[in-house]
Amino acid sequence: MLSYRHAFHAGNHADVLKHTVLIQLLRYLGQKETPYMYIDTHSGAGVYALDTGYANKSREYETGIARLWDSKDLPGPVAEYVQLVREMNPSGKMRYYPGSPYCADRVAREQDRIRLFELHPTDIKLLEDNFRKLEAEGQRGASRGKRVMVNRGDGFTGLKGLLPPPSRRGLVLIDPPYEVKDDYRRVKDTLADALIRFPTGTYAVWYPVLQRMESRQLPDKLKRLQGKDWLNVSLSIGGPTPDGFGLTGSGMFVINPPWTLEPMLREIMPFLVKALARDDQARFTLETGVPVTGPGVRKA
Ligand code: SAM
Repeated sequence: MLSYRHAFHAGNHADVLKHTVLIQLLRYLGQKETPYMYIDTHSGAGVYALDTGYANKSREYETGIARLWDSKDLPGPVAEYVQLVREMNPSGKMRYYPGSPYCADRVAREQDRIRLFELHPTDIKLLEDNFRKLEAEGQRGASRGKRVMVNRGDGFTGLKGLLPPPSRRGLVLIDPPYEVKDDYRRVKDTLADALIRFPTGTYAVWYPVLQRMESRQLPDKLKRLQGKDWLNVSLSIGGPTPDGFGLTGSGMFVINPPWTLEPMLREIMPFLVKALARDDQARFTLETGVPVTGPGVRKA
């Protein structure tokens, strides 16, 4: 089923969390000269217009990036994320929002490699067109050798063929729509396989915080994957909506997180809760752990 279109959700509170974490994970990898590979198993369209089409209809960005746009005192990592969005909007008016592939393209260096998967026929075309435009504008893009490659296909299965990356350094973002419950199973199975092929890679899984059982169980299932450190952060902007519709919380589960991630999140999460809160049930959770074969969770 391919009914999901990320344009409806572009720039919402979940994207704020996901893209802020993503940028910091890539920055960390970029501290060493050796190239890394960034793999996005579910890329979406890459760039979204906020003032037309689906995003303008849903206006979900008002729960996210719009709340930060005019803030002056942003903590460093949030400021860096907002600055990246600002660079897409040189007029100063918030018109475009970068998806994960674009964030990665801005942060990754010339020597790094970006591998993007997308299955939706419309979004894959938009993704290809967006990277072609970057290339035409003389920005980084697909033309620079094999720096960026866009793959029409299933990211869960496509990932296998890319691991381990030649430099043995890499970040994989797994960000499926979760509209079908099989996505939860496939995330876990894909990670279990990926960790055998590339045990030292960093893996970031975005997930929705929902009442449905599969969503509530996913972080615990990921904690049990073989022998890796993990970090789990979630952000809820409020309690459930009266009609039960609309996403109010999401999380990022990171396997093999850099040591810098936890202190960075301890700094920015209270700020994000305050800035994005819709009501007094807004909150964050942050926990890190080692494999549950040992004593288990280190901090909660
Ligand atoms: N990662 C993007 C970002 O942060 O900007 C958003 C991705 S969106 C949540 C999920 C995307 O996955 C949708 O564009 C959907 O069409 C695509 N998709 C769904 N199943 C897929 C699959 N098995 N392989 C690759 N893409 C898939």
